[in-house]
Amino acid sequence: MELAQLMGLRPVPAAGLLVSLTRRCPLSCAHCSTDSSPTASGGPDPDHLLRFVGSFGAADRPDVVLLTGGEPLLLPELTVRLTEAARAAGSRTALLSGMFFARRERIPGPIMRAITGLDHFSASLDIHHEREVPRAMVFRALAAVLDAGTPVSVHLTGTGPEDPYLADAAADVRRVFSDRVPLLVNELRPLGRGARLAGEARPAPVDSPALPCAMASWPVITFDGTVVACCNQQTVDARPVPSHLLLGHIADDDWPDVRARSLGSPVLRLVRAIGPRQLHLRYTGSPSPTDHCGTCRGLADRPEVSAGAAREAGGPGGVFLDRFVAERQRAAGPAALVGRFGCARYADLVDPATARPESRR
Ligand code: SF4
Ligand code: SF4
Repeated sequence: MELAQLMGLRPVPAAGLLVSLTRRCPLSCAHCSTDSSPTASGGPDPDHLLRFVGSFGAADRPDVVLLTGGEPLLLPELTVRLTEAARAAGSRTALLSGMFFARRERIPGPIMRAITGLDHFSASLDIHHEREVPRAMVFRALAAVLDAGTPVSVHLTGTGPEDPYLADAAADVRRVFSDRVPLLVNELRPLGRGARLAGEARPAPVDSPALPCAMASWPVITFDGTVVACCNQQTVDARPVPSHLLLGHIADDDWPDVRARSLGSPVLRLVRAIGPRQLHLRYTGSPSPTDHCGTCRGLADRPEVSAGAAREAGGPGGVFLDRFVAERQRAAGPAALVGRFGCARYADLVDPATARPESRR
C-alpha cells in the first residue's frame, strides 16, 4: 500500500483506525506532540486491543489500521499479532516510527519481522529527530525496508513552507530514493513539548469558517483505550472527552459499535461536512472563535448545536451529506487533502509519480 492510497482514504468516514500503541519512546525529541520519552508510560491493554481488532468482520472493518505512538516498534510482537488479526478480516496495516532502531547497523530481527508484515511503513524525520538519529542512519534503515519489499514513506516536519530544513531534507530524500519514497510534509504545531518551542511551532492558520474536518473521519484508540473521533492531540488527551467526540472504549466496545457511533452522530456528520466553526455559527447565531479545534471541543457545551444537528443531519439527508463531502474530498486526491492539513508547498510529494517538476527536484 503506497502513501497516496492511504491518504486517499483519509477523508472517508471509518475507512481507517488510528491506534496509539504506547506513549513510551526511546527518543526524547524536543517537539514531541505526545510528550513521549523513555520514561513515559501508558498504552491500551494489549488483550483489549487484540479483542477489538478481532471484532472486525469481512463486511465491517476499517480498510487500514495505522499504528502510532510514542514508538509502536517498542512492541514488535504485539504489532505482528495486530497486523495478522487485521489482515484476517481484510484490513491493511501501516505504522509510523521515530526510527530509534536505525542507530544499529542492522535492523533487529523482531523489529524487521514486524515491519515486513506491514502493508506500509512510515518514518518520521525532522530537525529534532535528526539530533537523536542521524539522517544517514534513517536512510540506511529505509533502504533495508524497501529491499525487503515493504512500501515506505517519510513524514517530514518543519516550521513552514520557507523552512530551509524542509527544502534540504525533501531534496535529499528525492536524491537518495527518487520516486520510491513519497513524502508527507507537515508544519510544526504547538502541541505537547512542541508548545515550548517558542517561535518554531506555529498555531494552525485561521481557517475559513466552513472547513470540513477530514480528521474526524478515522476513530482513534488513545493511550488509555478510550476511542475518540479524531487525532487532534488535545482532543486525544482531553479527559473527560467532549461528549460528541467520544466514541467508546476498547474494554467495552467492538469496532461495529465505534463505527456506528462515528457514522451515526449528526454532530460528527456536520463537523466532517461543514466544519465546527460553521456549525457553531449556524446553530448559535454567533461567530465562532477562530480556533478550529477549540471551537469544536466547545460544541459539547452548546445543547442548541446538538439539537440543530439532530434536526438537520439526523436523517438520510445527513448520511447523504457526509458521504457526498467525503467522496468529493477523495475525488480531489491526496495532494489536495495534504495541501489543506499539511504543508501546501510540498503536498504533491505525497504521490511522487504525479508531482510537479519543481517539487521533484
Ligand atoms: S520519535 Fe516521535 S514519539 Fe518519539 S519522542 Fe520523537 S516525536 Fe515523540
Ligand atoms: S475540528 Fe474537531 S474533530 Fe476535527 S480535529 Fe479538531 S477537535 Fe478533532
